[in-house]
Amino acid sequence: MQQVTNRMLAFLKPFHLTRIRLRKFAQQPRMTMEGIQMVDLIGQHQKIENELQQAMGRVLETGAFVKGPEVKAFAEELGTFTGAKHVIPCGNGTDALQIAMMALGIGPGDEVITTGFTFISTVEVVALLGATPVLVDIDPISFTIDAAQVEEAITKRTKAIVPVHLFGQMADMTALSTISEKHNVPIIEDNAQAIGAQWSDRSQRAMQSGTIGLMGTTSFFPSKNLGCMGDGGAVITQDDDMAARCRQIANHGMSKQYHHDVVGINSRLDGLQAAILRVKLQHLPDYIKARQSAAKRYDAMLHNLPGVTIPIRVANSTHVFHQYTLRILEGKRDAMRAYLQSKGIPSGIYYPIPGHAQKAFETFGYNPEFFGESLQAAAEVLSLPMHTELNEEQQTFICEAIRIFVLDIND
Ligand SMILES: *Cc1c(COP(=O)(O)O)cnc(C)c1O
Repeated sequence: MQQVTNRMLAFLKPFHLTRIRLRKFAQQPRMTMEGIQMVDLIGQHQKIENELQQAMGRVLETGAFVKGPEVKAFAEELGTFTGAKHVIPCGNGTDALQIAMMALGIGPGDEVITTGFTFISTVEVVALLGATPVLVDIDPISFTIDAAQVEEAITKRTKAIVPVHLFGQMADMTALSTISEKHNVPIIEDNAQAIGAQWSDRSQRAMQSGTIGLMGTTSFFPSKNLGCMGDGGAVITQDDDMAARCRQIANHGMSKQYHHDVVGINSRLDGLQAAILRVKLQHLPDYIKARQSAAKRYDAMLHNLPGVTIPIRVANSTHVFHQYTLRILEGKRDAMRAYLQSKGIPSGIYYPIPGHAQKAFETFGYNPEFFGESLQAAAEVLSLPMHTELNEEQQTFICEAIRIFVLDIND
């Protein structure tokens, strides 16, 4: 009898512990942690405050507030970092996409193939230029554009393919490059979320994100992996002709002063942002490592939870973790998010409505049947706090809350 009781107790123990933990978590006020943020820029900047002050001081002294030597130096340094021959700084990541598409002469009657599971800029700019965004679904493993569907969507009107390296991991650039060459359609990589990621092609030569397509675009919005303290962006390319066109377009279509040969836009990086970016670019490799370490800690704490899928890494790309994005299965995503919120833990949904379902793009008449994976991702994704300052204690707290939520439901 004693033996049976012991066995029963042993059987009940995990359940018991869960219950006790749940109660503890719910009742004890010390089980809270203040100040967990999605992104901690203040913490990041405090560590390099002297460098930042010096850099900004240089701009105040020279008065070169728009363009000028800091912008030039930053462009050169970003070129060295990425291996891109040309860097054309501009006002933001959305402008960068627009400038790259304008350099290709994209306009009414043209089609651009891209994904709707992205920040809206990628789709918006195509429509803004009067062209048609041809949206295809995503690969559910990487959340990036499904290369097989890209090939099916190519027509005589296709002027560009725009993969988005979402969350810090690259789209299948080997397959996309093959399609691009076969059909003679250039690629513009939307690299706003994956600066510093690398792709290993068939020869296993690692290439920087943004340098494989004809052009790559990026954003220096503060929360991006390389962020400034306002708006900023850049187009990068190995192509001399595209570089010259982008420079001209970004500067009012000007060839020499007050000679405007093409219709352009006004899109510039300012001196303060460039000076700040020069400092932060030097730290980017360490920032990427910090994000990757944080991702590994999350993996270790979350990998065997039922109903939770940790980010899957694809074979050819490194992952620089702009976001650490889980899938929460069985329709429990929103409840989990609310639970985390109640514990003071922020989380994000990138993106809740895919481009094909956005009101602004209704007129293109997308058929939701073709976007099953995008819709499922939109219903399941949950991005956890991810930044360079995230520490193990915070992550333990976050993951404990997730575990308790999951186990409670599974009881
Ligand atoms: C942030 C972002 C952009 C736009 O960058 P902005 O600098 O905000 O204009 C474009 N595409 C993707 C995928 C982004 O994440």
